[in-house]
Amino acid sequence: MTTTMQNSDIYSELKHLDARIAYFSMEIGLRVDLPTYSGGLGVLAGDTIKAAADHRLPFVAVTLLYREGYFNQHLDDHGNQTEEPVHWDPATLLTELREVTIRVEIAGRSIALRPWLYRVEGLSGGQVPVFFLDSDLPENEPEDRKLTAQLYGGDRRYRLSQEIILGIGGLRLLRQLEISGIRNFHLNEGHAALLTLELLHLYRRDIEETWDPDQVWDHERVRRQCVFTTHTPVPAGHDRFDYGLVAELLGDFIPLEVLKRFAGEEDLNLTNLALNLCRHTNAVSKCHSMVSRRMFPGYQIESVTNGVHSPSWTCPEFQKLYDRYLPEWRLDNSLLRNAIMIPAEELFQAHQDAKQRLLKYITDHCGSKFDPEVLTIGFARRATPYKRATLLFSDPERLNRITREQGPLQLVLAGKAHPHDEPGKQLIRDIFTAARQFHDNIKIVYLENYNMTLGSLLTSGVDLWLNTPIRPLEASGTSGMKAAHNGVPNFSVLDGWWIEGWIEGKTGWAIGPPPTCFETPDPETNRLDAEDLYGKLENEIIPTYYRKREAWIEVMRQAISFNASFFNTYRMLLEYYMNIYRQ
Ligand SMILES: *Cc1c(COP(=O)(O)O)cnc(C)c1O
Repeated sequence: MTTTMQNSDIYSELKHLDARIAYFSMEIGLRVDLPTYSGGLGVLAGDTIKAAADHRLPFVAVTLLYREGYFNQHLDDHGNQTEEPVHWDPATLLTELREVTIRVEIAGRSIALRPWLYRVEGLSGGQVPVFFLDSDLPENEPEDRKLTAQLYGGDRRYRLSQEIILGIGGLRLLRQLEISGIRNFHLNEGHAALLTLELLHLYRRDIEETWDPDQVWDHERVRRQCVFTTHTPVPAGHDRFDYGLVAELLGDFIPLEVLKRFAGEEDLNLTNLALNLCRHTNAVSKCHSMVSRRMFPGYQIESVTNGVHSPSWTCPEFQKLYDRYLPEWRLDNSLLRNAIMIPAEELFQAHQDAKQRLLKYITDHCGSKFDPEVLTIGFARRATPYKRATLLFSDPERLNRITREQGPLQLVLAGKAHPHDEPGKQLIRDIFTAARQFHDNIKIVYLENYNMTLGSLLTSGVDLWLNTPIRPLEASGTSGMKAAHNGVPNFSVLDGWWIEGWIEGKTGWAIGPPPTCFETPDPETNRLDAEDLYGKLENEIIPTYYRKREAWIEVMRQAISFNASFFNTYRMLLEYYMNIYRQ
């Protein structure tokens, strides 16, 4: 099969594609060897696309081709993180569409972009094309060839350039491929918001005789076609750019007074731009929608709580169980509610088998021998202060006493810090220090290079999934949903999705006070949360695990029935379809 043959076939196939939904995302995580994601946002995008393929939704997706990925994380014996570019060869997984070149103008230079195609195959014959835009072409200037090299790398100028490529370049790609019928441009986070400017440009009315911008810039038409999902209440997660830089890179693409009207007076705020030029905005959990409404008064912000792609995040041992007891669960994930009837011994054995796989990985990579009979707690997420990875270690005396009196614990952690996040990097060092201090009483390992493979291994192989964010900064969180799919109960602060999934003592346990989405930071919060964390471990969790095994297995089973049956992409995509895409 020659590439040219293949490409012309692909081209004519795409030309007839009728895609109602075009999904734009700065990162997409479809598989571990396609390193174009960093964390939750990308994995959610990948899971959404997989579900769209499973259910034959008319979807296409656009992102960038990061030839150096995000980064590979190395940790020395003291927990000092160093970063290395990921080495991978796009040609082994993707098809370069050589006949297609599109162009964007950045800082007065015309930059050529080449799309690469990856097709996501669904479970029932559906397919979603995903386009990865690449600036690494010989005809570009050397520095422009690097523009798509790194995910979340570089400075403000680099970021804005990438967002021009994603939003403006992405839309030009779909037009050049003549993909028709798009009724929803879905902006997965504000990064893609510049596509609204390309649409504004496209629908510009050439009315010479008027100086009324509403006559010229048909923003209503743009709004009708765009929908927006906001993903974080953390201010640094909302991209803003100085108008000086914007003028330098975008020139007079859209007049400054029009930009200011939609994107903000002070600077170009991509969240404001998306809020103003999308017909519908949603947050990613019920609590997050309340927080977002407070952050952006005057906008109607609904919610669609995130989900995970069930077949991708269920470990082989549990897949086998579900196939036997809940046939059809892969397509209709709501059937997972019937997990309640899976025999307890089989469920626990499947879990112990998954646990053995994780423990073998730990031995192979860290040399530590974990005990399969000891309660093992998992914590893996981006290493950044609001996630409070060290809360569990805040009172070492107490933790030691609890394990002496109630039963032993083992801990496994993982997570990358963004290369510029110094406090995040310090957290990893602090965990290494704590691990040394506990070494005789509590085994603690920190696994290097958290990625999708480790995510699966951890969320299925530990006995309890811990999450301790500062409220209300966890918009949703999805790793806890993965744990629930594998019968692993959550032990978490009441924030994000867990407010909706939590039934105390039934699906897991809460840390800290009942939910309030409008908290003012309390200096006592850390102490109160730690107090509750230790109290629950001491009085409920450890005793149940060691001395009421039947009750423990009941919690595992209910985590699947109540949580996995709901916090999945089947339910999530139905909500997107019913409440957003078809409106
Ligand atoms: C699922 C996943 C995440 C997101 O988990 P959170 O609970 O939102 O932190 C991040 N990184 C990887 C590799 C994942 O698999």
